[in-house]
Amino acid sequence: MSVPPTRPTSWLARRIGGPVRLLIVRDAHPVREVRFDPRTALRVGSWVFVAVWLLPIAALGVVVLHARLERDTLATQVAALTVEAKRLSTNIAELERYAGLPGRGEGEGGPAATPPDAASAAGDAVDGTGTFLGTLRRRFGAVAGAVTDRVSLMRGTPSGVPVADARTSSTFGWRVNPFSGEGAEWHAGLDFPAPAGTPVRATADGIVETVATVGGYGLAVTVRNRGDYTTIYGHLQRATVVAGARVARGDVVGHVGSSGRSTGPHVHYEVRRHGQPVNPRRIPSPEPAFRTPAPAGAVKAGGAPGVPPAR
Ligand SMILES: [Zn+2]
Repeated sequence: MSVPPTRPTSWLARRIGGPVRLLIVRDAHPVREVRFDPRTALRVGSWVFVAVWLLPIAALGVVVLHARLERDTLATQVAALTVEAKRLSTNIAELERYAGLPGRGEGEGGPAATPPDAASAAGDAVDGTGTFLGTLRRRFGAVAGAVTDRVSLMRGTPSGVPVADARTSSTFGWRVNPFSGEGAEWHAGLDFPAPAGTPVRATADGIVETVATVGGYGLAVTVRNRGDYTTIYGHLQRATVVAGARVARGDVVGHVGSSGRSTGPHVHYEVRRHGQPVNPRRIPSPEPAFRTPAPAGAVKAGGAPGVPPAR
């Protein structure tokens, strides 16, 4: 014969005891009997307590946990952004070296430490990254302006030749008189023989100063360039620009001819600085450091090969 299992009772339930009967009496006559079990009341009260207090506390715990996870994720993302911003800074530093601007970003160090707590670390990281990005924006603006200036300076400095693929019939300096074949005369430019009508192109950005027939030069176009340079294209058959026009390097300024003191179709190409003819093949780059960026921390060497001798 099996014994039915007894329901375990708590210490409080045992103290409270079993069910009680209440007899409601009116005029010495029982009118109603009420049965009441305090242990049932205890169980119901326990569940009400859980519902009223513990569930909101649990919900609050879930909210706090979620916020912590979000904060940790944010901190991780900010750290990744910081690394990316540092990479950008390195790229900008390279551009700064190209542009000849003083280097930035040196003077960092110290041991890597553990953040005091995640909340302040995330806040500090956001502040620091914001400040860093602001600095990057300013540096990029400065380097963009400097690069534009230097590109303008380079494009405005005479470079290359006015006739594509042409040989040189006379170089800069002393030469034998091309008409008599005897005696020496000073040649203030370079001569490039080419078929009449071949396009003659500007070797630098500038503004056309004159288009005129000038003595031995014949029909010549003179262009004022950057850095006190002037370029002259002589013996033209005809000019394609007018005085005051703005020309860019590579623009056609005229066509090859044989006007003036000339033995045949060719361009007399002359470069002057401060009004004095200089060897077009010895014009220094305006920014050697810009053309060949020095590695970080290297001492910049003077790139100018020397001032060409004036006549
Ligand atoms: Zn010449």
